[in-house]
Amino acid sequence: MEDPRASNDPTIRRVRHEMMRRELTVSAVERITPAMVRVTLSGASLASFASASPDDHLKVFVPGADGEPVGRDYTPRHFDTEAGALVIDFVDHDAGPAAAWARTARAGDTVLVGGPRGSAVIEGDAIARWLLIGDETALPAIGRRIEEFGPGTPVTSLVAVAGPAEEQTFATAARLTARWLHRDPGAAADPAPYLAALETMEIAHDTFVWVAAEAEVARAIRRHILERGHRKTWMKASGYWAAGRADGAVKNLEDAA
Ligand SMILES: Cc1cc2nc3c(=O)[nH]c(=O)nc-3n(C[C@H](O)[C@H](O)[C@H](O)COP(=O)(O)OP(=O)(O)OC[C@H]3O[C@@H](n4cnc5c(N)ncnc54)[C@H](O)[C@@H]3O)c2cc1C
Repeated sequence: MEDPRASNDPTIRRVRHEMMRRELTVSAVERITPAMVRVTLSGASLASFASASPDDHLKVFVPGADGEPVGRDYTPRHFDTEAGALVIDFVDHDAGPAAAWARTARAGDTVLVGGPRGSAVIEGDAIARWLLIGDETALPAIGRRIEEFGPGTPVTSLVAVAGPAEEQTFATAARLTARWLHRDPGAAADPAPYLAALETMEIAHDTFVWVAAEAEVARAIRRHILERGHRKTWMKASGYWAAGRADGAVKNLEDAA
């Protein structure tokens, strides 16, 4: 017999945006926590900027090892088309050109930013609560989502960071339960702390589970959630980076092994 819940399954609505590359100027740089650099970019071309989902991504073009530009994916953490401002939070993870660019960015610098090319908007009246799981790279998307929820929306976040100093607070009307996991940044590709925490948590069938972290971690979390009988259509999982691989995102783990 068909599962009666199936007809109420959440859907992902694709929104296309005009593909634009904008040259923007750094207007402010702030270290919001020891390992997170917030860069505010400005430019009149942001008047037409659109981002319909908190997990949209931009391509930020920075100088690579040979000086040639390389593109890396970042979340539009906040934007204000009237003011012509776009905020991006960069994890300062020591190893890559994008992290290096953010670490040394100064007001007045310019940078090329492409996109977002499109948005994948998660919709569904049957979604009664949300579970947002991720690491530091997912915090901008998780924070934006938490801030955009309507009043009283039940949401639990489970985020792994280096320690208490990396925890963030969000201005939200949602009913937020924030759980933080502390682990050494060197262990960011180990799914064990997430899985141990998840073992202690109930996940009701009407929970939409959103996951973004290091690719193997995201894969292990996805597997765990599915093994608990949670339906595929009630989850979105992405690898936002891959340990040992530059620009190693696996944006949709749906079909990945
Ligand atoms: C949709 C999407 C949205 C994203 N949003 C954000 C965001 O808002 N903020 C953000 O900081 N990141 C975000 N990321 C992740 C970011 O794109 C990657 O971390 C990217 O690899 C960073 O580029 P890089 O030039 O600094 O390092 P790369 O040149 O890509 O990698 C160099 C080395 O560093 C390692 N590495 C990469 N990222 C990390 C990390 N976070 N911790 C430890 N080691 C790492 C790689 O494994 C590689 O060995 C997002 C990714 C996706 C797919």
